[in-house]
Amino acid sequence: MSDASIVDADTSNFIRDAINADIADEKISKVITRFPPEPNGYLHIGHAKSICLNFGTAIEFGGHCNLRFDDTNPEKESVEYINAIRRDVEWLGFSWNSNPHASDYFGQLYDYAVQLIKQGDAYVDSQTAEDIRTNRGTLTEPGIAGPYRNRSPEENLALFEQMKAGEFADGVHVLRAKIDLESGNINMRDPVIYRIRHVTHHNTGDTWCIYPLYDFTHGLSDAIEGVTHSLCTLEFMDHRPLYDWILDKLDPPCHPRQIEFARLQLEYSLTSKRKLNLLVRDGHVDGWDDPRMLTIAGMRRRGFTPQSVVEFCRMIGMTKKDSMIEMAVLENALREDLNSRSTRRMAVINPIKLIIENYPEDHEEMVTGSNHPQNPDYGTRQIPFSRELYIEQDDYMDDAPKKFFRLTVGREVRLRFAYYVTCKEVIRNEDGSINSVICTYDPNSRGGKSADGRKVKGTIHWVSANHAVNAKVNLLDRLFLTPNPAAEDDFIPTLNPESRVVVNNAKLEPAIDVTDNILAYQFERLGYFISDIHSSIEQPIFNRTMTLRDSWAKMGQQK
Ligand code: ATP
Ligand code: MG
Repeated sequence: MSDASIVDADTSNFIRDAINADIADEKISKVITRFPPEPNGYLHIGHAKSICLNFGTAIEFGGHCNLRFDDTNPEKESVEYINAIRRDVEWLGFSWNSNPHASDYFGQLYDYAVQLIKQGDAYVDSQTAEDIRTNRGTLTEPGIAGPYRNRSPEENLALFEQMKAGEFADGVHVLRAKIDLESGNINMRDPVIYRIRHVTHHNTGDTWCIYPLYDFTHGLSDAIEGVTHSLCTLEFMDHRPLYDWILDKLDPPCHPRQIEFARLQLEYSLTSKRKLNLLVRDGHVDGWDDPRMLTIAGMRRRGFTPQSVVEFCRMIGMTKKDSMIEMAVLENALREDLNSRSTRRMAVINPIKLIIENYPEDHEEMVTGSNHPQNPDYGTRQIPFSRELYIEQDDYMDDAPKKFFRLTVGREVRLRFAYYVTCKEVIRNEDGSINSVICTYDPNSRGGKSADGRKVKGTIHWVSANHAVNAKVNLLDRLFLTPNPAAEDDFIPTLNPESRVVVNNAKLEPAIDVTDNILAYQFERLGYFISDIHSSIEQPIFNRTMTLRDSWAKMGQQK
């Protein structure tokens, strides 16, 4: 993807306006942003919004963006997540300037904490976690000072060094910023900035047994990297005074500007790593990259294109107010992209046999099919045609109404790219199910045009039975039945039991590459399908990326 296509410079937004103002005021010369995920899970569609914003802004202003792992909770973080995050950012089409870990700065952060202590701006508190919580007060009551708040800087320094040296067990002491216990903003009531955790860190190993907290780490990491604009979601608005307080007190070489924007919330999905983790841990899905999950890895496996995800993020834009985005917006961005780019093929998902009784046995021929009806550059392919074909079960009906432009006894249809056929009779199995539909064909309609100019209304797809490739197909749908699963106390009962329907006996035309999982095919009349990462020539597996039309829209109208 070229840089130009990932930048939306046309429409103005409040972030762009703020940056332009900072440039006009000569507060900054080069725009530097960062995308700072915590490596405690896989990235999801919500992160895509932040990635497009941070990387897109840097590109637009000719600056750069860092991918920073905000790794201050060693218990929950792992190298698996780190690797997945890198892969996902790259897949979306972005490149980072540098890829540091916040943990790379632990040494500098420790020095900054010492500076705060020396200035009298931080103290070691030895109250229990419970007492600290109680004494911080509530939304309506101010906090009160605990017995350790007035320790001298010397005593604090000595204790902090002992904390670092591993002389205390977890939870015995914490380091707190000394700000204002009566502040209306609870974040400012002497927040904890360091705690003791005797655990191994995926990046720093056992070097540290004290770890800085997010608020202390984040602003200073931004400053260390020279970030000019720290773009984050609205829940950090109340943290901004603390972000600024820490930087004001420590005066690092640069003081980034924090600007908040609304989190993406998308109907029928979860945008929280913690909640997605529950689905993975308890086996409700097959893993973080389950194609029903709106993780970036899941979407990639599902057949989403990076272009459609970036386009979706552009379409929803930036706001300062939380709102729920309709799933159809994402799905339509995908449909539009795939419609213009997917190669067309034929496949039959619920096959029944169609036998052409006047087509010579043991004869076969090739018919020419276009690979993309709107784009001749895609060229054509040869499709084998023979006496026995598979067609879709619901392309035949007994006693069909007049407007059923498919097969019923006596009706003529066009087989896509091939011939006109007329249905003569249906042979049934003992249980009443259809064994085969018997037709005759018009040899003068090759290519789908009759010699006498006779028109037929319906065209159906087919696959030659002798040449068909058997495949397993996962018919995927939304993972949740309710538009806002996150609002439920327990979202598990709202999982859609039909989010994956497996079809084991689909028939594919031979020109389908069963191991190409880069771009979904359009299976004509059925939707977009992509080969799964576990698909092989021995066992082809396809995922339905998306139907051709929005089948949920109709259901919504009925409500
Ligand atoms: P989660 O609850 O999924 O873990 P998070 O905000 O804790 O989300 P981080 O790894 O800290 O996840 O996020 C990295 C960046 O992505 C942050 O700047 C965060 O604000 C942003 N982000 C996370 N979720 C969303 C979302 N739904 N919409 C927009 N930005 C998001
Ligand atoms: Mg987080």
